[in-house]
Amino acid sequence: MINIPKGTKDVLPQESYKWHYVENTVRKVALDFNIKEIRTPTFEHTELFLRGVGDTTDIVNKEMYTFNDKGDRSMTLKPEGTAGVARAFIENSLYANTQPTKMYYITPVFRYERPQAGRLREHHQFGIEYYGSESYMADVEVMCVAKTIFDRLGVKDLELNINSIGCPECRKKYNEALKAYLKDNFDKLCSTCKERYEKNPLRILDCKEEGCKAITAKAPIILDYLCDDCKLHHENVLKELDKLNIKYVVNPHIVRGLDYYTRTVFEFVSTSIGAQGTVCGGGRYNNLVEQVGGKPCPAVGFGMGLERLILTLESLGLSVGEEEVPTLYIASLSEKAKDMIMPFAMNLRQNGISVEIDLMDRAFKGQMKYANKIGAKYLLVLGDDELQTNEAKIKDMASGEETPIKLNEILKFFRIEA
Ligand code: ATP
Ligand code: MG
Repeated sequence: MINIPKGTKDVLPQESYKWHYVENTVRKVALDFNIKEIRTPTFEHTELFLRGVGDTTDIVNKEMYTFNDKGDRSMTLKPEGTAGVARAFIENSLYANTQPTKMYYITPVFRYERPQAGRLREHHQFGIEYYGSESYMADVEVMCVAKTIFDRLGVKDLELNINSIGCPECRKKYNEALKAYLKDNFDKLCSTCKERYEKNPLRILDCKEEGCKAITAKAPIILDYLCDDCKLHHENVLKELDKLNIKYVVNPHIVRGLDYYTRTVFEFVSTSIGAQGTVCGGGRYNNLVEQVGGKPCPAVGFGMGLERLILTLESLGLSVGEEEVPTLYIASLSEKAKDMIMPFAMNLRQNGISVEIDLMDRAFKGQMKYANKIGAKYLLVLGDDELQTNEAKIKDMASGEETPIKLNEILKFFRIEA
């Protein structure tokens, strides 16, 4: 028996409706914001992520699924969605179109992590990418997309945490201040944070270790080090959110896991699904396109973990959609009925009615049991009498009500009923 790889999950036929429900919801919200779908490959040249995600990040340092293909090229399974989109944006000259370019994706994401609730080795993200706009309005619209999704799904307990990590100029000054502050406690930092100290001290603020958290609790905050432009941008974002009545918490410890962020960073955090509570994380990344080889182009977006989103809905007792059921089960009572049932069902299916028939050679009783089990909404029984008179009864399985019907008028019945 070969088992499923650790940290991956099957979505079984009886639960795939949940995925359809959230996917349909996010696609509809994207449409309402005029965001178009982009699909990029599941694997890319490793180099793209080294440059795009950054070689001081956890993702690049320890989480990537990297392999050499048969042509001895280093390839990596997508560890996030943004770098591939940035590559496609450049490679297909999307920057030459009228801006902004607003895109979304739904994609599997691969990270070699320690599996636990809400943390998998293959998970799925819905993400959006806005390229071309430097305006704080784009930051706010991106947050509005996430907020609209949560509203539509009825999720109320998510807290929006916002911070600004400034531009490279502000960060240079802040990093000095942070390092000066951390210097005395260097020995008490975890080993990962010791490495971060020189390479990317900002990330120490994001450490999940209690010891590091205690040390950074009173660290200087980056908001005090923002240059005038970054400060204004940040204030404008907050003002616009106020105008929209969107509640947020300014949290100076939000720095995000990826290196490409500039200015706005944000997370929507759930209190109902335990430690892995961040359902959506995003921000602005004005330097990414340039970093992966394009002309400078401002950008902002987010990634939303769909497993965590479904977990949130379930733990809050909210709807996760409804299992799809067939509209009609047609039972065959006789050999003659069996003879004509397939073309009969096909005609209805070709007209968009979901129909199930017997494929198991079940006796009539077994067919009834099955129709009940699969939750068919209506039942039609065909025997010799029905074929001869061209009339049958269609039964509403919920109410038990039976309606006489001509066999060539079934479509009409469902057009009215549907
Ligand atoms: P975390 O701090 O939880 O590791 P992250 O900063 O690595 O998250 P992002 O790279 O911003 O997360 O990914 C966007 C979203 O994807 C996260 O907010 C989360 O909902 C989801 N996500 C990230 N990693 C995983 C994972 N290993 N399993 C399931 N969902 C994940
Ligand atoms: Mg992570």
